[in-house]
Amino acid sequence: MAQRPDILFPLFVQIRTLKGVGPRIEKLVERVAGPKIVDLLWTLPTGVIDRSHRPQITAAQDGALATITVRVEQHQVPRNPRVPYRVRCSDETGVIDLVFFRGDKKYLQSVLPVGETRIVSGKVDYYRGEPQMTHPDHILTEEEFADLPPYEPVYPLTAGLTQKTMAKAVGQAVDRAADLPEWQDASWLKQQDWQNWLAALREAHQPEALSSLDPLTPARQRLAYDELLANQLALGLVRARMKRLSGRPIKGTGELRRKVIAALPFELTGSQKQAMEEIDADMASDLRMLRMLQGDVGSGKTIVALLAMLNAVEAGAQAAIMAPTEILARQHYETVQPLAEAAGVGIALLTGRDKGKVRDGILTHVADGSLPILIGTHALFQEDVAFKDLAIAVVDEQHRFGVHQRLALSGKGQLTDVLVMTATPIPRTLTLTIYGDMDNSQLRDKPAGRKPIETRVMPSDRLEDVIAHLQKALDAGARAYWVCPLVEDSEALDVTAAEERYRHLSATLKGKVGLVHGRMKGPEKDEVMHDFQTGRLNVLVATTVIEVGVNVPEATIMIIEDAERFGLAQLHQLRGRVGRGDKPSSCLLLYQGPLGETAKARLKIMRETEDGFKIAEEDLRLRGSGELLGTRQSGMPVFRLADLSVHGELLAAARDDAVMILQKDPELESDRGAALRTLLYLFERDEAVKRLRSG
Ligand code: ADP
Ligand code: MG
Repeated sequence: MAQRPDILFPLFVQIRTLKGVGPRIEKLVERVAGPKIVDLLWTLPTGVIDRSHRPQITAAQDGALATITVRVEQHQVPRNPRVPYRVRCSDETGVIDLVFFRGDKKYLQSVLPVGETRIVSGKVDYYRGEPQMTHPDHILTEEEFADLPPYEPVYPLTAGLTQKTMAKAVGQAVDRAADLPEWQDASWLKQQDWQNWLAALREAHQPEALSSLDPLTPARQRLAYDELLANQLALGLVRARMKRLSGRPIKGTGELRRKVIAALPFELTGSQKQAMEEIDADMASDLRMLRMLQGDVGSGKTIVALLAMLNAVEAGAQAAIMAPTEILARQHYETVQPLAEAAGVGIALLTGRDKGKVRDGILTHVADGSLPILIGTHALFQEDVAFKDLAIAVVDEQHRFGVHQRLALSGKGQLTDVLVMTATPIPRTLTLTIYGDMDNSQLRDKPAGRKPIETRVMPSDRLEDVIAHLQKALDAGARAYWVCPLVEDSEALDVTAAEERYRHLSATLKGKVGLVHGRMKGPEKDEVMHDFQTGRLNVLVATTVIEVGVNVPEATIMIIEDAERFGLAQLHQLRGRVGRGDKPSSCLLLYQGPLGETAKARLKIMRETEDGFKIAEEDLRLRGSGELLGTRQSGMPVFRLADLSVHGELLAAARDDAVMILQKDPELESDRGAALRTLLYLFERDEAVKRLRSG
């Protein structure tokens, strides 16, 4: 049985086992760091108190941490308990008030006796022109001060949690960490001039200057590298396992594909053909396919997926395609169905909405193999969905699914090939962390005849001009999307905003305006989408539900309100809804000023380029990896120590390292292998270790 090594046990206990951490504090610390001791280790200081910085009172800067030697002058005890207790202090340059809310008189008089000298340390604030220090972190005598370390880390906090409590908790956690067997290659450590894990950990928690907080210090790099190596190794193990499980060549006759290609009203692009060849080769080999098909919005991934599925059908097996939303699943179905019909191939759609007889009917045909292609949402995961012989699973818009879901679908077939499609171009660095060394096909050339999209940026106080312009375009037969402001964390508010805009536009525009948002029921949504598709509506007011994949080639105008609130990837996705037909398209980004630096940069990039890969790289640069895809839904690992916007090179090195390790020691059985198992457990990649033979 795979088990976490004993040496790590002390790190995987609850934080309430720490001194000074009771139930109340536990909740607060957990909010900042996490529930376990190890989570505290990964919570690195974000600041540093420098006690060597000891200004005199008038030299202390507003908002800065300072350690000041003062003489206690006078206690101002408030009558009204809501007024803070003040202790006036001085040095030869001036006076400073120490401020205590609900201060305890007895206590304060004992630690701050009038006439004596004390050293106080904390944040200095100017209030009505006078310096004051509210709740000093330390009040010490000269002797006590001499015992204090000259530097102290500053940790992230949450309301109700003090620096002192947090620092004490983390300090104890670090003390519990034992020296662990070295999992890094000795020559690599030497070359990087890195210390062992424990020394690096301690150093990272003992900053001695602001420069110690730099993610590129040797200590922080070492820790980041450990995390990245754990990530790459875990992915490598999963991948090796999946490949090992396979052993079934799929080789279609090409007959069905020929029929479909003949029925297409267009030529396949060069990169579509190349992707097809790569997929065919994977499927024909007796290893399991694990390939990602990356392509910008509108680059034509769906047809490639269909051809890959037909390859399986020709070989007598089944295929499935899974999309993240009902709208998308339906749309795939509508694109694929007529083509499949042209080739005489049966196909069905299964969503969460299908119940009872319809659902039972589909499931029966899926189970007896008489239905070759099934398209659906995550409803495909459900246990009662059993294929007779699923040879290929296509997963669309992958980043919306978690790793587990992905594995669940491929687990529906014994030797199922997996093709992952993503419309969000993901920078190489990120694909590595999400997918490991997944094989990669890219659709980089746009289908012939596509016109560039003209993108403009405008302040939202010109709304009336915008509406007037839109009216002209509608009169000339255009169809437009109008995307409404995104209100953070509140779908309900998003919807209200969209409804309001919908009413406003319905009243001001001479046109047929529709509304679609995430709160609507499936059939309702479909009806609106359908009306927009057929042109019965010519303006579609929407929240971001239209973000991914929706395909209405006749729509040529995209208006996005409060564009500054969207991330680059999202803006790019939204813009990709237009420019899909042969008419010129435009995208208008409305913003509420004044814009911050990042928002300004984002809008500028949108104006300058349509290249999704370039946009994704810029996005990573501007925001760091955590936010890129909206971490929570992304299934992307959240790194605690590594920051891909600065540690990109380390990631590449970790990837190479992992490949080499698994080549030499695929079951991690050597001495280093054993240490690497500890590393995997340390970073909670238990699943990966369990995949090992003698895990
Ligand atoms: P994606 O899923 O990559 O966003 P789709 O597969 O939905 O793109 O394709 C977008 C549109 O482009 C569809 O209407 C599709 O029929 C069309 N299309 C796909 N391939 C080509 C091509 N080679 N030439 C012209 N149009 C194409
Ligand atoms: Mg698509």
